[in-house]
Amino acid sequence: MTQTGSTGVIDRDALQALFDAVIARGYVPVGPTVRDGALVLDELTGVADLPAGWTEDQEAGTYRLRRRDDAALFGFTTGPQAWKPYLFPPKTKLWAAEATRDGGWAIHNTPDDAPDDTRPFAFIGVRPCDLHAIQVQDRVFLDPRHPDPLYAGRRERALVIVVQCGQAAATCFCASMDTGPRAESGYDLALTEVLEGDAHTFVADAGSAVGRSLLAEVPHDEAGADHLAAAAACTQRARDQMGRRIDTAGLPDLLSAAYDSDRWDALGRRCLACGNCTMVCPTCFCSRVEDVTDLTGDHAERWRAWDSCYTLDFSYIHGGSVRRTIGARYRHWLVHKLSTWHDQFGTSGCVGCGRCITWCPVGIDLTAEVPLIRDRGSKA
Ligand code: SF4
Ligand code: SF4
Repeated sequence: MTQTGSTGVIDRDALQALFDAVIARGYVPVGPTVRDGALVLDELTGVADLPAGWTEDQEAGTYRLRRRDDAALFGFTTGPQAWKPYLFPPKTKLWAAEATRDGGWAIHNTPDDAPDDTRPFAFIGVRPCDLHAIQVQDRVFLDPRHPDPLYAGRRERALVIVVQCGQAAATCFCASMDTGPRAESGYDLALTEVLEGDAHTFVADAGSAVGRSLLAEVPHDEAGADHLAAAAACTQRARDQMGRRIDTAGLPDLLSAAYDSDRWDALGRRCLACGNCTMVCPTCFCSRVEDVTDLTGDHAERWRAWDSCYTLDFSYIHGGSVRRTIGARYRHWLVHKLSTWHDQFGTSGCVGCGRCITWCPVGIDLTAEVPLIRDRGSKA
């Protein structure tokens, strides 16, 4: 066993030591577990909470858990949640106000009055596409011109442990978005789960000082060339399995010029404007502000809540909604994701996780829509 270096091989039976080291440092481990027929993210006590022997089948509008024929701990891709709720909670109290005896209001807007969850989270099992999604949201919430202090605090405190993908769902297309299936940087520790015969190991790569010190506390062997080759073969298998792709060549210009495409009306007839795709998307960041009061009228609160560009209210400006048709709202979402996001943030707003395909109740698939729009553009 070695206790130093940036890479190592951790036996499956020693993985609990990683949880123990994370918890001993004060982190709250959060990772995948089985609940309500899905793989969800939740607080974990240790390896026993991981979804051993579970995988999933995903297709447009379809998600089913299924038993594997091995005991892989991370033998699946992505569930309905990304890490977004832990960095950008669905609802956040911004401030509260109490009526005072002299007829005024006392405003409470300090962190103590509107407490945030300040526990440091250890994200365990972050997929490469979701790591890229966090980095996309960093551009939005950590922009030095208008940083979001709640997001900044949660992000600063978080520990990121990636698990590289060893398989892909039929809905995955991260390879074509250049966001997976292997993360090369941006993590504290990256694990690749390798099952070969009776051997069940994790090839670990530390990407930060914290990651190196964690690895040093966990019993491990030195990673040899054969281990690194086995890890590379895992991610190559995921790449080969990738069920979908998007041709990104010239895509921002193509979509910006497709304002009048007849696909938007066709999509408007199928889309339910339910907003599922925006809720599950790891990069969507829109929110609204709600003011609420109690029945006495003496107490008021202001909350920030996730919003969706699929609602009529989202584009309501002075007496009317700008995007009245569902087709216009789908167009806004898709063009923002794949085109104008580049203008705003210098990157795509899509990381190819496939969640919007799986969790769309009518199975609308952006990887099928983009070629149709491209095809119509080329005939114009
Ligand atoms: S647009 Fe769809 S595939 Fe792309 S990041 Fe969002 S949910 Fe994932
Ligand atoms: S594209 Fe699908 S998930 Fe998104 S709003 Fe329309 S019906 Fe809902």
